[in-house]
Amino acid sequence: MKPRPSNPWWATTSHDEIHQRQDVLLRRLLKDRVVPFTAYYGKLFKELGIEAGDIRGTDDLEKLPFTSKADLANPRDFVIIPDEKVLRHQWSTLKYAITHGPSATKQALEEELRPILLTSTTGRSSAPVPFLYTKHDLANLEECGRRMMELCQSDASWRHINAFPFAPHLAFWLAHHAGTGFNTFMMSTGGGKTLGTEGNLNLITKIDPDAIIAMPTFLYHLLQQATQDGLRWTKLKRIVLGGEKVPLGMRRKLRALCEQMGAEDVAIMSTYGFTEAKLAWTECMPPKGEEVSGLHVYPDQMFLEIVDPETGKRVPDGQPGEIVCTPLDARGTVVVRYRTGDLIEGGITYEPCPHCGRTCPRLIGKISRVSDIRELNVNKLKGTLVDFNALENLLDDTDGLGAWQIELRKRNDDPLETDQVVVHAVPAEGSGSEALREQISQRFGQAVEFAPNDIVFHSWDEMRRMQGVGKELKEKKVVDNRPNPEAP
Ligand SMILES: [Zn+2]
Repeated sequence: MKPRPSNPWWATTSHDEIHQRQDVLLRRLLKDRVVPFTAYYGKLFKELGIEAGDIRGTDDLEKLPFTSKADLANPRDFVIIPDEKVLRHQWSTLKYAITHGPSATKQALEEELRPILLTSTTGRSSAPVPFLYTKHDLANLEECGRRMMELCQSDASWRHINAFPFAPHLAFWLAHHAGTGFNTFMMSTGGGKTLGTEGNLNLITKIDPDAIIAMPTFLYHLLQQATQDGLRWTKLKRIVLGGEKVPLGMRRKLRALCEQMGAEDVAIMSTYGFTEAKLAWTECMPPKGEEVSGLHVYPDQMFLEIVDPETGKRVPDGQPGEIVCTPLDARGTVVVRYRTGDLIEGGITYEPCPHCGRTCPRLIGKISRVSDIRELNVNKLKGTLVDFNALENLLDDTDGLGAWQIELRKRNDDPLETDQVVVHAVPAEGSGSEALREQISQRFGQAVEFAPNDIVFHSWDEMRRMQGVGKELKEKKVVDNRPNPEAP
């Protein structure tokens, strides 16, 4: 009922014990909170003709349908809004009242159940969906952040920078709470939109941080500018990236920029989180020269299923599939069996981590969004499925390419014409545009079997403007300028 202290078992327990403990957590959450007090799941269970108690554990979740983005049209239906009469007669409430007295019980329930913070989806393709947090959730968020600090081998005496954009978004608030959870200094710059590039550079230089937490594209621009300005951030030891996927090529480029600034030994970890999960996971810091070993998941906070995106059936451990998540200790807004639309290349594993030995589940390999696969009409005959995730990886991995943006157009701006792909590019210092043009064309062709229709070179300033660095919450790497085919 009260925000619980940290659960040390998340990193040390065997797979069997994780399974048993998750069953207990799931049963309790569904029976005491989700089914009686959320409109959506109360109705769903009634329609299915089952009781909360019929879900005995995570294996039984397959009796429930998935919840997807489209189901979240009425966000209030997913909020735990307690009926006081029911709450007062629950066994857990009575038990707490006997040992703590009525006023402490009232306070504990208020801290557990009253929403006090909101984050929201970015709402690029649909209306933003708000997700509510109670004090109980904030305690979990702090614990989640503390674990991320621990996994990245941070130190509480260090100085941390949170350069996520100040917005009602998970990334900013998780980074903030990671600071309080780890009891360390965390300066939030608010990102480019709040202080601008110059403001960020000035503040970060003054702080002289040991660690920076930021979105990869924004940080890349910051470091690019910082090296041009001849700034030295020699204490920097960790970079933790979130909010966008992080191709390996991007890590390499960030590391090179850090070296130019006198930070010789920077470990770069990436995170994965989303509004609906109300938390994020990170990789543990690998030994020098070794690859990362996957995202470390907290089994006391979330149960993960990996399913075949076509059939919706669970796939065996280690097999690729779509990530589906069910919270085990959330309050406020709760979404059960949430289909993320994100594909994990190497699936989930319960084997101990080869680097840190933790036994928590890990998500292995690259994550790509189902929506990254888009259909393009590159010739008149048929649509071609293009994996934009692969394209972005490829561009980030191209040496000599400083920054890029993909633009989709229609030939002659005619909605009935074929699609055109234009690559906008900034050559890295010391690389010639003609050689780069050839390299982009060739590598592009290898990945998607067609060359870009055009490659246009720009200056760093132009590219920053085009990507919206310091203007947009998220830098624009792919821009769709095709006229709407439905328009007359
Ligand atoms: Zn590990």
